[in-house]
Amino acid sequence: MDSAVYALICNAVIAGLFAVTFAIIRLSYPGQRYVTCFALTYLIGGVTPLSELGVRLTPFTTPFMILSYGSFLVSIAMLLLGLALMAGRRRPWRAFALLIMCGALIRAAIWGGPRNELWYELAFQSPFMAGSAVATFIAVDAVRRKRGPLWLALGIALALMTTYFIIKPLFAVAFGSGATAIAYATSSYALLSQSVGGMLIVTVGLLALLLVVQAAMGRTIAESETDPLTGIANRRGFDRRAQAMMAGARARQQPLAAVLFDLDHFKRVNDSYGHAIGDKVLRAFARILVDRLPAGAALGRLGGEEFVALLERTTLRGAWLSAQTVRTALSETASHLPAVTISAGLAVLEPADTIDSLLERADRAAYAAKDAGRNRILPVPDPVSAEPNRASRVG
Ligand code: GH3
Ligand code: MG
Ligand code: MG
Repeated sequence: MDSAVYALICNAVIAGLFAVTFAIIRLSYPGQRYVTCFALTYLIGGVTPLSELGVRLTPFTTPFMILSYGSFLVSIAMLLLGLALMAGRRRPWRAFALLIMCGALIRAAIWGGPRNELWYELAFQSPFMAGSAVATFIAVDAVRRKRGPLWLALGIALALMTTYFIIKPLFAVAFGSGATAIAYATSSYALLSQSVGGMLIVTVGLLALLLVVQAAMGRTIAESETDPLTGIANRRGFDRRAQAMMAGARARQQPLAAVLFDLDHFKRVNDSYGHAIGDKVLRAFARILVDRLPAGAALGRLGGEEFVALLERTTLRGAWLSAQTVRTALSETASHLPAVTISAGLAVLEPADTIDSLLERADRAAYAAKDAGRNRILPVPDPVSAEPNRASRVG
């Protein structure tokens, strides 16, 4: 066996391994549908070197030539589709269909044409150049939209791949790519084509794999830090944001305030209306927190019917006013849901505070609000007088 045959076998095996790896990831993390595109990219792409072997080792030259070109074309189109979806773009079905159709037409039009002539070689590679160039654009655009440095590495690899498809015709004209398909398969051009192509395919595959794994880890972390009922952060997620906010407030010497909200007599809501309605009230309350508190606030559900908000650049007075906005929104939102009130406790960051000590003070203030008759926010800052208590309704 000559070295071109080895290179073809190597490429088929590598493509197969990538296809299996992507398939396993797809099955393990069902959320990432675009991984199917990458599995198909490599599964179908693996048919190309196998077809080249068919051209080289069997008498079925024409069918294997068609299969080789067609599989590579579909593989590039699949790569485009996968990258676009991974980058968060709309499904590029038009580009996908256009690439395959134009590629097939061009190949049919130059069938039996003069190999080693520049126009023929350029036409032959043009669909791959175009597909690879669009893939490069998707990666560069992802870098521009700050999707991370791995996209930059992928963009560079795809730009090299595009360059490779441009250089191939020039190389073919300079050194010859074999006068026939069989002569091509034994040429040094084929060896270069297979080995450089193989390296690029491995590089792009590894980078796509890293991006897929990174996205899967990001999703897992986000899920582990989110309260599934309300969609806001759970204690773990809140703590992570709170640590960063506390460090920032200290570094900039700005005030920071914590508000601990506890729904009043929530057990009664569950007992009277059922747990499902109780859940709806909790979701509605979380919605109010998201809508009414400043966008920079860190929100969290600490458990049960206890919620927390950490407000940056906020003094005790500011925190009281924000909590009051929430309390009023709760009372003003008319709906089919049962009437609910909240008690809230405030605490402002002190130099020796940890997140636990800050929340403990807010919790003590919330208890004081409960003891004082519920439906109120404590401590009340000096210039503000306590609001009259009203029954509230959420929705
Ligand atoms: P207080 O005014 O003193 O806070 O009284 P409370 O009834 O709100 O407080 P308590 O701690 O006695 O009860 C909290 C209730 O919250 C009990 C529990 O059934 C309910 N709860 C906790 N988690 C959930 C949840 O995820 N969904 C629903 N529907 N209820 C929950
Ligand atoms: Mg309660
Ligand atoms: Mg409670």
